[in-house]
Amino acid sequence: MRYFPLFADLAGAEVLVVGGGEAAARKVRLLRKASARVTVVAETVTEELGGLAERGAIAILPRTFLPRDLHGQRLVYAATGDGLLDSAISRAAKARGIPVNVIDAPALSTFITPAIVDRDPVMVAIGTEGAAPVLARQIKSLIETLLPANLGLLARRARDLRQIVARAVIDPRRRRRFWERLLSGPFRRAVLCGAQDEAGRTLATELEGQRRPSQAAPTGRVTLIGCGPGDSDLLTLRAVQRLQEADVLVVDRLVDAKILEFARRDAERIFVGKAPRGPATSQAEINRRIVREAQAGKAVARLKGGDPFIFGRAAEEMSACQAANIPVEVVPGVTAAHACAARVGLPLTLRERIRQFAVVTGASADGQPDLDWPALLAKHAAFAIYMGIGNVPHLRRQLLAAGGDAATPVVIVENGTRECERTVATTLADLTDAVAQHAIVSPAVIFVGLDWTEAGVCRPASVIVHRRGRRPAIELPLEKRAANAEARS
Ligand code: SAH
Repeated sequence: MRYFPLFADLAGAEVLVVGGGEAAARKVRLLRKASARVTVVAETVTEELGGLAERGAIAILPRTFLPRDLHGQRLVYAATGDGLLDSAISRAAKARGIPVNVIDAPALSTFITPAIVDRDPVMVAIGTEGAAPVLARQIKSLIETLLPANLGLLARRARDLRQIVARAVIDPRRRRRFWERLLSGPFRRAVLCGAQDEAGRTLATELEGQRRPSQAAPTGRVTLIGCGPGDSDLLTLRAVQRLQEADVLVVDRLVDAKILEFARRDAERIFVGKAPRGPATSQAEINRRIVREAQAGKAVARLKGGDPFIFGRAAEEMSACQAANIPVEVVPGVTAAHACAARVGLPLTLRERIRQFAVVTGASADGQPDLDWPALLAKHAAFAIYMGIGNVPHLRRQLLAAGGDAATPVVIVENGTRECERTVATTLADLTDAVAQHAIVSPAVIFVGLDWTEAGVCRPASVIVHRRGRRPAIELPLEKRAANAEARS
């Protein structure tokens, strides 16, 4: 280690920035966040710096650098873009023992500024000693995704509570455990999702538990997490955070195994698979299970395919939690229609052409969905059918009987965003035939009324076009397709 990391208190400290360009302005922005008193020496400055000086937020000396400018300065930044001048500033600062940083010139600098992830007052600084700034930025992006945007709120709340906790929990080891629980458990979650009342209640319970340890009832909570259609890249940052906080995962069949990688290794996993027509955990049993786990004080992550609010039976689970007084949060996910449409480049609305887009279910408790067929076929409308693969003859018959044009474009995306994704483009007339010929299975989304040509965009080459009577271009069983793909790569 050549550079020693430390955080300097610059509140009210004099800092000199020589140079008035964009690089200098970036440093000034950062220094102002730290409440430093900034003086800029430069003949010309950016509009932003000029504006700051006008408002009295910084001082500007509109001339070239003079060694006497260093008098009384705590730190110096040189960003003149002039190598000779930067060297002279560096020498002068070193001679006076003032830490100096020359932008992009570590050899002339006695300190360097790290890349930072700013969750004020939580600050993560990343440095590579100048070896690989791009690597530092990559690490920064990674950490940005891991820390909730409002983590600072939690730190500030902790700061406000320090004395109260110090008085309530005298023993230092118990106090440390108390803080660990507060900053990782229900209190943390309540603060971060803005539930101030709940945070207050949790804190009160925790403090009460310190006074009378045996009586404290633990409080758990349930988060319904939309996990998207498969590909873990489509998880939201919040979904990842909640996964990492969870003590128990209650997982749907449609949730991809890769997504579970984001959870803690020690989190308990409960699978409540519901295969179409296969064995299932009943909804009532799932409701009871999540409530029971939360009542035991655990953070329950209920992982759902796509978005919890789209054909996800979220209402039943929320209502079960609410009836048991268990806090429940919903994290939205990318629903199958959105993800599948994006995969095949098929816009879901078109200016002046498609003004309404609906999502409908192709299944129902008694098997045959009773939809408002004429409304679905309205002039400027298109729709996506979920859970429809087992019912295509019925769906096709109803749509044609309601006056649907036999030539209406239909696009079926099977296993969207997964490795085995397939897309078949056909027409309403040929829908049943296409599903049978290509042996399309669930999960698949059937888009009706959407077409690339109408949108004026290209149809991806991977899309299989199916017309009755025409033999499919290449249609091999799955194993053969996989073997071919392997041979090609
Ligand atoms: N809540 C989910 C939908 C659950 S219903 C969401 O918002 O996406 C299950 C149906 O979703 C499946 O029958 C299928 O129609 C659709 N579906 C889910 N994942 C899919 C995928 N990867 N590709 C295509 N369709 C999918």
